[in-house]
Amino acid sequence: MSEVVGSVGVMKVIDGIGSPGIPGGADAVEDDVFPCDPGWVPPDALDLICDAGAMVAVFTAERYRRVAAYRREALAEAAGRGRGLIDVVERAIRLELAAALRVTEHAAGLLITQAQALEIRYPAALDALGSARVTERHVQVLIELLDPLTPGECDAVFAQAMVLAETEPVGTFRRRLRALIDQTRVETLPERHEWALRERRVFVEPADEGMAWLTAYLPAVEAHAIHGRITAIAKTVTAPDGDERTLDQARADVFGDLLIDGTCTDHPEAARGIRATVVVTVPALALLDTPTDALNGGFAVVDGVGPIPIERARELCGGADGWMRVLTHPDTGAVVSVGRERYRPPPALQKLARWRAARCMAPGCGTPADRCDLDHTLAWEHGGHTALTNLAPLCRGHHTVKHHGGWRVHQLTDPAHSGALEWVSPYGRRYTVAPERTIPVFTTAAG
Ligand SMILES: [Zn+2]
Repeated sequence: MSEVVGSVGVMKVIDGIGSPGIPGGADAVEDDVFPCDPGWVPPDALDLICDAGAMVAVFTAERYRRVAAYRREALAEAAGRGRGLIDVVERAIRLELAAALRVTEHAAGLLITQAQALEIRYPAALDALGSARVTERHVQVLIELLDPLTPGECDAVFAQAMVLAETEPVGTFRRRLRALIDQTRVETLPERHEWALRERRVFVEPADEGMAWLTAYLPAVEAHAIHGRITAIAKTVTAPDGDERTLDQARADVFGDLLIDGTCTDHPEAARGIRATVVVTVPALALLDTPTDALNGGFAVVDGVGPIPIERARELCGGADGWMRVLTHPDTGAVVSVGRERYRPPPALQKLARWRAARCMAPGCGTPADRCDLDHTLAWEHGGHTALTNLAPLCRGHHTVKHHGGWRVHQLTDPAHSGALEWVSPYGRRYTVAPERTIPVFTTAAG
């Protein structure tokens, strides 16, 4: 496939990935046979877009192959002429590529790095791109997340990373791959965290138009707690009508108010009492004095952050306010349904439904669940229950799309897909969105 030249070659390359409705693909076209299968369905507008997307992927893979080949050739030629300064030769190659493609040297450099990574370290990913099973963004995320790993760590996750790349939308893929990597590196987490902690700092960088960036490099738990608190305060402060600030603007104002004044007397009373809340999920055994190496690879996770050292989790669960503790050994006393008794889910059920999903349950959406509406999947007015099996967080935009956008959504309840939503698009395509965590389904014993 790498010797594709001209349009006939291109037809060959995309043969087999064209519209599912066109039997025979390129060969049929070459033989001048018109599709006459009575079951043939003409491609719809969305099929045509998907085809174009597949062609982009095929061409992108081909470009990566050619860039890698060009670099090899140029390096060999430079070596042949006795030019040994490898840095200078690489720079010259980058400049030449940038000039020819009319892009910046930075962009050309990135292209060369990615091409090399795909050819040398991840040839399976390049093949997947070349047959349009993944997109360019998928392979870029793959390179970005796998390159910092040791070869051993990379080998341990690669096969599963490819399965995710070929099944998940980019946002979900990035999240799942990151979680997978965290899981495999969890043993070295305490040392890595200890080392990184020494680098914590706050710094100001100048920006244009009289602005500047104030950036803090912090432990993830504290960073998320700070962001969560200023978001909650900003929402309360802008709740009254007439406040036209965006949430970003209000957050920036609250951040300044809190740090400069310490107390914010001009904030409404309701906003002053807001404290940070962080959800920590801990293996039940970890809270006893079980030695860490006896935890069998179990580790603590903070919502929206990822794994944290178990020692730190014990500290957080030690009693300080604002930490919602969820044990991975599920609390069977949890309220999972109030049936038709009431429309609004009680706080514990709300928390459980949000915790299970972690984010908006629309395909590919990454909005954190605590910023979502909690939607009755089967509407209350159509007999829907206020139960874990009928509640899912949706961001405001996707909530509206669900009710008025022509999509049909239902929640799957079989144990293998517990809590997943199936979305059926106006074009009839189906997408299953799995929650971040599954909660075992408890069947009531007879009687
Ligand atoms: Zn959403």
